[in-house]
Amino acid sequence: MDINGKTKFAAILGNPVGHSLSPVMHNTFFQLLKMNYAYIPFEIDAEKLDKGVEGLWNLGFIGANITIPFKEKIIKYLVGISPEARLIGAVNTLVRKDNGFWGENTDGKGFLRALKQEKEFTPQGKRVVVLGAGGSARAVCITLALDGAEKITIVNRSLAKGKEIGRVIEKEIGVGAKIAGWEDKGLKTLIQEGELIVNTTPLGMKPNVMGLPPLNTQWLTKDQLVVDIIYSPLETRFLKEAAQQGCQTQNGLGMLINQGLLAFEKWTGVIPPAEEIRKILQKQLALEESNNRC
Ligand code: NAP
Repeated sequence: MDINGKTKFAAILGNPVGHSLSPVMHNTFFQLLKMNYAYIPFEIDAEKLDKGVEGLWNLGFIGANITIPFKEKIIKYLVGISPEARLIGAVNTLVRKDNGFWGENTDGKGFLRALKQEKEFTPQGKRVVVLGAGGSARAVCITLALDGAEKITIVNRSLAKGKEIGRVIEKEIGVGAKIAGWEDKGLKTLIQEGELIVNTTPLGMKPNVMGLPPLNTQWLTKDQLVVDIIYSPLETRFLKEAAQQGCQTQNGLGMLINQGLLAFEKWTGVIPPAEEIRKILQKQLALEESNNRC
């Protein structure tokens, strides 16, 4: 990559950012498309976030991604946010406008796009079960509800967090929500009602690859689509066990790629080559997995 006086810049702000695949993804897009842009990761302390955003603005950055733990905190430094980001309560993408940065959330839309592309699954009229009620669950649940899901059941350890997402889905979007705990007596029935089951907990994520959401995977049935938004490892224990039950399965790589593609489109107006990046990231993740086994 040649950086010169005409290079334009995008960034990711987070803490940590060392694990992020976004720099590889966006810099590869820029190279493949022969665009004179570069994407830089910045690890920043929470108390310097305002100065960081101001710095990006003053230096002419075209935009940025925001990752943990700043997706909510960033909002007060922006000139506005999209209605979807407002419902989700979090921003993962900044887009440069005339008077400051505008906030978007591409996580939920990235998840939906991946479902459509990989499984031709559309949420309209479908019953969905979401495991977990953290930041990504919020983006997934709200986007599924906006896209017409019939009912969303949220299973989480902290019921209060599940209830808060349920409140937004019911009151602000008008879609039915049910909240359950892992110990719920009726959990088996609730799980079996779902046409789509989505794990948004980090259980099973590297390095704790034996982790599993605390439910009996033998309850899963072959007519269900089971998605784990974890992408490292590419096939979690949850997905392996779901496949053994005959379920269709999907990992989190498509969501990761699509949230990035959507941000890239907003910054540049260009649609980048999705299949090429999938091969590159898959190779990188497989390499990391085999290095860990050595
Ligand atoms: P988060 O905000 O910290 O939420 C984690 C959720 O998992 C919480 O609801 C938490 O329950 C639950 N949980 C955590 N440990 C648990 C345990 N031991 N037992 C039961 N429940 C547990 O995290 P996040 O940002 O949503 O990320 C979650 C996962 O999604 C991570 O693996 C991340 O890598 C992945 N992710 C993937 C993508 C993608 O593009 N594919 C995007 C974003 C995130 P409580 O509410 O009770 O604490």
